[in-house]
Amino acid sequence: MLAIDPKQQLLPLLKTHFGYDTFRPNQLEVIKDLMSAKDVLAIMPTGGGKSLCFQLPALAMEGTAIVISPLIALMKDQVDVLQANGIAAAYYNSSQASEVQQEIFQQLRNGELKLFYVAPESINQFNSVFEEIKISLFAVDEAHCISSWGHDFRPAYTQLGGLKTKFPELPVIALTATADKATQDDIAEQLSIPRASRHLASFNRPNLYLDVRPGQDRIKQILNFLQQRSDESGIIYCLSRKNTEMLADKLRNAGYDAKAYHAGMSTEERTQVQEDFINDRTPIICATIAFGMGIDKSNVRWVIHYNLPKNLEGYYQEIGRGGRDSLPAHTLLFYSYADVVQLRKFIADSENAQVQYAKLERMQQYAEALSCRRIALLNYFGEHVTQGCGNCDICKTPPSYFDATLLTQKICSAVARLKEQEPMGVLIDVLRGSQNAQIFEKGLQNIKTFGAVKDVSWQDLQQYVIQLLNQGVLEINFRENSRIALTPLAKKVLYDKETVQLAILNQVEKQTERKTRAKIEKKGLFEKLRILRYQIAKEQGVPAYVVFGDASLKDMEAKQPLTKSEFEQVSGVGEAKLEKYADVFLKEIAEHVAFVKPKVATHEQTWAFFKEGLSPTDIAVKRELTENTIYSHLMKMHAQGEEIDLHELVSSKELSKIEKAKIELPKAEGLKAYFEYFEEKVPYWKIKIGLYLLDT
Ligand code: ADP
Ligand code: MG
Repeated sequence: MLAIDPKQQLLPLLKTHFGYDTFRPNQLEVIKDLMSAKDVLAIMPTGGGKSLCFQLPALAMEGTAIVISPLIALMKDQVDVLQANGIAAAYYNSSQASEVQQEIFQQLRNGELKLFYVAPESINQFNSVFEEIKISLFAVDEAHCISSWGHDFRPAYTQLGGLKTKFPELPVIALTATADKATQDDIAEQLSIPRASRHLASFNRPNLYLDVRPGQDRIKQILNFLQQRSDESGIIYCLSRKNTEMLADKLRNAGYDAKAYHAGMSTEERTQVQEDFINDRTPIICATIAFGMGIDKSNVRWVIHYNLPKNLEGYYQEIGRGGRDSLPAHTLLFYSYADVVQLRKFIADSENAQVQYAKLERMQQYAEALSCRRIALLNYFGEHVTQGCGNCDICKTPPSYFDATLLTQKICSAVARLKEQEPMGVLIDVLRGSQNAQIFEKGLQNIKTFGAVKDVSWQDLQQYVIQLLNQGVLEINFRENSRIALTPLAKKVLYDKETVQLAILNQVEKQTERKTRAKIEKKGLFEKLRILRYQIAKEQGVPAYVVFGDASLKDMEAKQPLTKSEFEQVSGVGEAKLEKYADVFLKEIAEHVAFVKPKVATHEQTWAFFKEGLSPTDIAVKRELTENTIYSHLMKMHAQGEEIDLHELVSSKELSKIEKAKIELPKAEGLKAYFEYFEEKVPYWKIKIGLYLLDT
């Protein structure tokens, strides 16, 4: 179907319409499949760039793309962004005035739209129109809503299975951030796309800093945390409505602009809070987990969990709302045992309590992790990574580890001998050779690893097993009695000499108040551009990110474009935005550049002092640099043509000694060889200048 190399065809479209130079992971693969009329199931993390996977094909293909999306706010956001990029798009839902609806109907009939967004509840009204017009593809966004296995089941989604039956020749793409296998299968089945090609993107969000702290004095900790983040947007998730209000009050009293959000508020109130947040009018929202689904706000710079979430799925989704522009975002989880007790009470009377208990326990183990948090998270979602991330609290201040390869082999071998069928308690009993009734009943005293780790206490052994879960060596199967199983990594430990490090237990409690790092960011061009963006957004009545995301502003700050063609190189600048915004932004940047005195190069500063008559030694002291550096600055000035007599610094006798060394030493030797040749009696700088003089 595609005559030319799709990448060559698509990259210019990506640049022209969206202003991006490269695809994110999996986007191109998904797009290629879709454009060869294949059905696709795309599973990519929140913020991974799913929308582009159907928006770009919609532009490249003939006809209108029909996008089914669950929330009005979500449709509106996407259409706003598309229109800002000069793309013909519209949405339809029951809340619109009937004149507006009529007009959209007409646009659709006339084939004027490249993308048409519709709520699942309204789709039946379009049955006959869809028969009449040319459709390029169907996209089902937030597709997990079709599955009762998923976490946001929406009955209206179930009728979407009819689309593929009615239009078998049109490709259907289903998109979601829900990773688990049961939900994936269910989506494919219900949408009647059993042969859909599945694209699972990595769930890693390396720009999210993962931080966990003990939940003491949370309010004080939050106030400290906020001190360096005065105008950044962030979300604080709380367990109860009462807490969201209490916290918002406290923050307001401390001078922060914070609002509460929970399901007990009226729809209007909630919409208002959400819009104020999206439009950067309210930077801080204290919310229950009711807040956030479908909010595509790219510049959420931090997410705090005031309470422990009830499972890692929820936690990962919530922190996933931070840093969607790929810039660094800080996530902070407060862990307190009181929360665990509270959550266990909630679970007690729910349907599948056993699974939920097990997941809560896993959440708790994550919070107590002694090895890289990201490894723990990604392994939980089935991505087998072993390399520490360097961007979590543990990687930043790691505990001491010991070589636990042998211990791990014993544990894994017991898991294997238990045929991966037993939960953690039984595993530990077997390893310790416990003589209890359950063991004898099952005859487990006869297996080979019985009592293999007698010398380690029950609690310690449990801690080691938990560490192995967090490191992705073992995993828990929640749906089957929480039995412990081996991962591919465990097999490497057993058979391939893979080594394992475990944290030594009972180390001195991690420092709670870690040094506050991030210095207050100097307000520069970025701040000015933000203000400009805010003004434009306000004038046009759109959210700020519709004008430009933070990533684009950062890129402007870095590149400081002064011409239109330079502006075009900024990430996020496509043709439409170039047309609309280049002039105002270029003006702002030019003013900034003119205003900020160009930075004097370091060797020029040295030169200025030298001209004033200071000796190289004096300059070195004054500038807190080494003499060697000062001399190399002077050399550089000489090379630039400044009047400076280097022969005054190196006598002719010294020069001929250096010349002799040059002949005797092998070619291309470094300064160190010369330094040693002269038995460390001639300083580096003299050698350097000498060689320089000999060469010029
Ligand atoms: P998802 O639906 O997967 O949560 P979105 O589609 O809302 O994510 O995309 C998140 C952000 O990433 C948006 O601001 C989008 O413009 C941006 N984005 C998407 N694709 C790219 C790309 N190839 N390069 C840079 N930014 C991108
Ligand atoms: Mg999305």
